Amino acid sequence: MDYIERVLEEVKRKNPNEAEFQQAATEILNGLRPVVERHPEYESAALLERFVEPERAIMFRVPWVDDNGKVHVNRGFRVQFNSAIGPYKGGLRFHPSVNLSIIKFLGLEQILKNSLTGLPIGGGKGGSDFDPKNKSEGEIMRFCQSFMTELYRHIGQDTDVPAGDIGVGGREIGYLFGQYKRIVDEHTGVLTGRGLSYGGSLARKEATGYGLVYMVEEALRCRGESLQGKTVVVSGSGNVAIYAVEKAQSLGAKVVAMYDSNGYIYDKKGIDLAVIKQIKEVERGRIKEYVSRVKGTEYHEGCNGIWNIPCDVALPCATQNEIDGESANALIKNGVKIVGEGANMPTTLEGIAAFQKAGVVFLPAKAANAGGVATSALEMAQSSARLFWTFEEVDRKLKSIMVNIYHAMDAAAEEYGVKGNYVSGANIAGFLKVADAMMAHGIV
Ligand code: NDP
Repeated sequence: MDYIERVLEEVKRKNPNEAEFQQAATEILNGLRPVVERHPEYESAALLERFVEPERAIMFRVPWVDDNGKVHVNRGFRVQFNSAIGPYKGGLRFHPSVNLSIIKFLGLEQILKNSLTGLPIGGGKGGSDFDPKNKSEGEIMRFCQSFMTELYRHIGQDTDVPAGDIGVGGREIGYLFGQYKRIVDEHTGVLTGRGLSYGGSLARKEATGYGLVYMVEEALRCRGESLQGKTVVVSGSGNVAIYAVEKAQSLGAKVVAMYDSNGYIYDKKGIDLAVIKQIKEVERGRIKEYVSRVKGTEYHEGCNGIWNIPCDVALPCATQNEIDGESANALIKNGVKIVGEGANMPTTLEGIAAFQKAGVVFLPAKAANAGGVATSALEMAQSSARLFWTFEEVDRKLKSIMVNIYHAMDAAAEEYGVKGNYVSGANIAGFLKVADAMMAHGIV
């Protein structure tokens, strides 16, 4: 058993009920094998053992009262995983599936993603098993206030700066920020993804989706191609998906399918994004309403079928483990050329292996969706300086960060003998800086 296998055994032994965390640790550590072989000092410093153990994991009670006076109790989490290169940074997820395993997998990924941006941000993640669906405005607000009434004591603009994720958008960030400010009596950049009237950055809302497509376009450009005329399938219809579709369409691609957690729509003429925005952003409705508004389109119950639709580019932008080995093989059979992960860990280990074996260009989440957190860090910079940049300025910085990340992981893969393997390349490029900082800090 080599060093990595021993650490992974230990991860499994210590975290027996954490399947998602084990999956993320397996993907990351296996990708780091060439680095560890070149740096035997890491093993003597138990660097990987420290890397997979959060600096701190906070779990708390979130009681709230619904509109009928009934009391509910949810569970809140904040995992402050690694602050070697900067304050903890990472989103908050509100979804009934949230548990410690999911927050830890997201936090571990976040360390390397944040490092890849080249900006000084450490890794963290949080959230709750609260389900925002079918809740009134008042219920959402009271939940957010109760959540922040505990979380506030653990965060701060130089300590830990949360943002949004699944189920946490501009509305929730507003309520969370309002309660933080009320308790602490400080108007600081403690959360990102804030509204433009109270410290938010232009282009933050668009950043993850736009950034994903900037990276896909760069990968295609390096192969003498572009998105012009390509057929694209995007899963999800939330923040990341909508702005990935917007940017892909503006670069000449035809996006033919999207989904929400109930089912998918297929529009062979190309999706009308204004209709999707109206249903999802304005009405907070279900995607199946699209077919009653746009003629000649189809709706199918269930999500998996979306990966049977022939496409050149697949952009999974909803949630973890959306593409398993079977879906990956369906995409490959239909000629997919490039897969860009907008969501976190949307492809299973079997799916990744299938894409790599088939020579599909596979852009892993921690690189491909880093545009969101990168722009959050730009929001932090603007907050500290107490000034704002234009949309174009932020967008230009975002694009250059995404292009840089692509080349950093491409170069790392080549340098460490795994050319074209961007899973390894992204893990290595992100890890080296964190490892260097951890070594410099001594055994902490
Ligand atoms: P949203 O809540 O805005 O949207 C999530 C979308 O995914 C919705 O369409 C939702 O459908 C769908 N979805 C959620 N869970 C499932 C499921 N189990 N099966 C099928 N569909 C599902 O979230 P975001 O767009 O912000 O986040 C999407 C992904 O991107 C997540 O993995 C997140 O971690 C990642 N990410 C987000 C960033 C950001 O800046 N927002 C940054 C980096 C990564 P429904 O409406 O039916 O629930």
